[in-house]
Amino acid sequence: MPSIFTKIINGEIPCYKVAEDENFIAFLDINPNAKGHTLCVPKQEINRIFDMEEKHYLDLMRFSRKVAKALEKVIPCDRIGISVIGLEVPHVHVHLIPINEMKDMTFQHKVQLTSEEMAALAQNIQESL
Ligand code: AMP
Repeated sequence: MPSIFTKIINGEIPCYKVAEDENFIAFLDINPNAKGHTLCVPKQEINRIFDMEEKHYLDLMRFSRKVAKALEKVIPCDRIGISVIGLEVPHVHVHLIPINEMKDMTFQHKVQLTSEEMAALAQNIQESL
């Protein structure tokens, strides 16, 4: 069965998209740790990041860096934290999280944004790429 992220990639379910190229997509996390929490996802459905072919992995990091640079422009924060977990969705994704303190990386502290705020934020990030 395709992962929820494959369904997003195929346009079967919606997302707040911030970037896309031939091999990767980035969209806002639906349950963000912080405003601007973004996921960078390879279009090829792979469960574990270190199972990725080396070039594909390095390309994902390059894509994630580009998105992180756009996040830095849009979200006032100390820095962009990066994390890869995948216990909930077994399809590789890089979490990019604007952080000011350690709790922003814990996945226990969550923030809520309206759908209008999410859509405007995604557009701002997209325009800052
Ligand atoms: P993990 O697999 O533990 O790295 O966590 C999966 C992440 O994907 C969580 O932060 C979820 O909030 C996020 N997530 C799950 N479904 C969606 C979705 N449909 N759109 C955006 N983010 C999602």
